[in-house]
Amino acid sequence: MKIPKEVQSIVQKIRENGFEAYIVGGCVRDFLRGVEPNDWDITTKATPKEIQKIFPKSFYKNKFLTVTVQTKSKNPKLKEIEVTTYRLEAKYTDKRHPDEVRFAKTLKDDLKRRDFTVNAMAIDIFPENKQRKKNKKEKSNLKIIDLFSGKEDLEKKIIKTVGRPEQRFSEDALRMMRAVRFAVTLNEGWQIEKETAEAIKKNSFWIGAISKERIRDEFLKIIMSERAAKGIELLRQLSLLKYIIPEIEEGYQVSQNKHHIYDCYEHYLKSLEYAAKRNFNKYVRLAALFHDIGKPRVKQGEGPEATFYNHEIVGAKMTAQILNRLRFPKKDIEKITKLVRYHLFYYNPGEVGESSVRRLVKNVGLENIEELLQVRMADRIGSGVPKAEPYKLRHLKYLIEKINRTPISVKTLKVNGNDVMNILNIPPSPKIGQVLDILLGYVLADPQKNKKELLKKEIIKLGKLSDDELKELAQKSREERKKIEQKRDDMTKKKYWVT
Ligand code: ATP
Ligand code: MG
Repeated sequence: MKIPKEVQSIVQKIRENGFEAYIVGGCVRDFLRGVEPNDWDITTKATPKEIQKIFPKSFYKNKFLTVTVQTKSKNPKLKEIEVTTYRLEAKYTDKRHPDEVRFAKTLKDDLKRRDFTVNAMAIDIFPENKQRKKNKKEKSNLKIIDLFSGKEDLEKKIIKTVGRPEQRFSEDALRMMRAVRFAVTLNEGWQIEKETAEAIKKNSFWIGAISKERIRDEFLKIIMSERAAKGIELLRQLSLLKYIIPEIEEGYQVSQNKHHIYDCYEHYLKSLEYAAKRNFNKYVRLAALFHDIGKPRVKQGEGPEATFYNHEIVGAKMTAQILNRLRFPKKDIEKITKLVRYHLFYYNPGEVGESSVRRLVKNVGLENIEELLQVRMADRIGSGVPKAEPYKLRHLKYLIEKINRTPISVKTLKVNGNDVMNILNIPPSPKIGQVLDILLGYVLADPQKNKKELLKKEIIKLGKLSDDELKELAQKSREERKKIEQKRDDMTKKKYWVT
């Protein structure tokens, strides 16, 4: 992998203006492990004002001493590069808001305030003289600055705080959740180092001091990772989950009944795991995690005969509460809540009729049906049932498409009964319908014919036919239409592999 030329040229330009500048943070970590970074960050000794002077088109978000420099790159990840002035760890009296952000004088100080060793490395480009640069071998122009053994931890796949974990978490409690996030997003096999993990367990309570928005963003990153379920379990093991979504923990070791091999909590995680494995979207992942969350509260009886009546209704309410609390957008809350509310829908080809399916579609919304079926698959697989009912679900999709496709009807014609009556100067009679049926036949054979002027000419021609001729043509046209309808249905069936 290469360092993008846009990034190199910004570093170079800052240096030409007499300031130190380095590539820093998560992108160095990703560069070293051969993964394309989400964003490239640059840190410099220049102050925001000085950076802006070098890049007149940049803009400055006051809060974090960060200047956003625009590039001409077409890659969205390179369009805007953040250049941040060296800064010191700020004092967090309340464990959430820095009291003030202060400049640092050295790169070392800036690296020291970063959260984890693997996130605290920098890249020095062009450390050698300009002559060497001519030999274009990029590697020779790079030096990794690694003051806290980040490289070693990267090789060992370890998340470890820079400095004493307890102190670092007391400065900013969100770092505890970030540790979990990195442990599941970086790659298979990453672990939180023992002392760091112990410190999280001990200080987990402080996550409550963090703004819900920041928690939501980290939570979503965990949910969107391939190892989302592992992330939730890690949050639980580190005592963070009970301060974030205690409702999930309510299901811990709550057994189900004879239809289930997993307890509630295990089932939530297995469902989420499947949703993540299939790379389903955030709505499906969250609905998979929450679909049975009402169960512990409505459980009646114990053992194989236990029941969970109305758990989908209670669960939908709890889901809305959780997502509201975490400040999810209203639109997302509505959607995920619906997926939870209707996840129990029953369908069996031949047994469940069109009217029930229409009702389901009306309740869930046509736009959410695909996701509802995905939640159902996650639910089934997450129960340890080997099959996700593929045939039934495909048949349901077929029926929904059938119900919702626009019918073949004379209403699609660009002329109507009134036009026929006016043009032929005749009163209402079965003749009008016959003419329209014939015209529809023309249009089905050639959609280009559905133009008002063309159809008007055809009406005049048809007006010259005898009653019997017209009747016969209309009959033929209707039969033809039936065949087309049948063919359309056959094609829909084929599309969903159902009979
Ligand atoms: P991603 O790949 O998700 O962007 P990242 O490592 O770049 O991961 P960011 O949240 O974008 O993470 O932060 C960029 C860098 O800023 C981090 O690598 C870390 O060095 C530093 N950082 C971010 N948040 C904190 C924090 N709360 N405390 C200390 N350092 C932080
Ligand atoms: Mg980043």
